[in-house]
Amino acid sequence: MPFSTPNPRFVVFVFVLLILKVGLTSFLLMSRDAAFKRKVYPPLAIAGSVIYLLFGWAMGTDPRTLLLIAPFVAVSTYMGLRKVRFCDGCGSTIWSEERFSPPQYCSECGAKLE
Ligand SMILES: [Zn+2]
Repeated sequence: MPFSTPNPRFVVFVFVLLILKVGLTSFLLMSRDAAFKRKVYPPLAIAGSVIYLLFGWAMGTDPRTLLLIAPFVAVSTYMGLRKVRFCDGCGSTIWSEERFSPPQYCSECGAKLE
C-alpha cells in the first residue's frame, strides 16, 4: 500500500510543536533562574495551547469541534501549570508526580516549594 503525501500544514504543525516542546523543556531543565522561569512559563504554556488550537483551525477542523475541545485543552494546560514548580533554593524545575497536586518539596535540594 503506497503512502500518501502528508498535508504540508500538518508537517509544519508537527515541526513547530516539536520545536516549542523541545525548546521549552530544555529551557526549564537548563535555566537556574526560578523567578524568570516562574514569569515566562505560564504565558509560554498557554501560547502552546493556543497554537495547538490555531493549527487545528488551519488544518480545516470544524470550528464547532474546536469549540468542543478548547475547554479540554484549557483544563489540560491548567493542570500542567499546576504540576510544575520552580525551586528558589537551587533553581530546579520540579514536576509533580501526583496527578492533581503540585509538588511540595524540591526533589533536588529538599527545599519547601511555594
Ligand atoms: Zn531545589
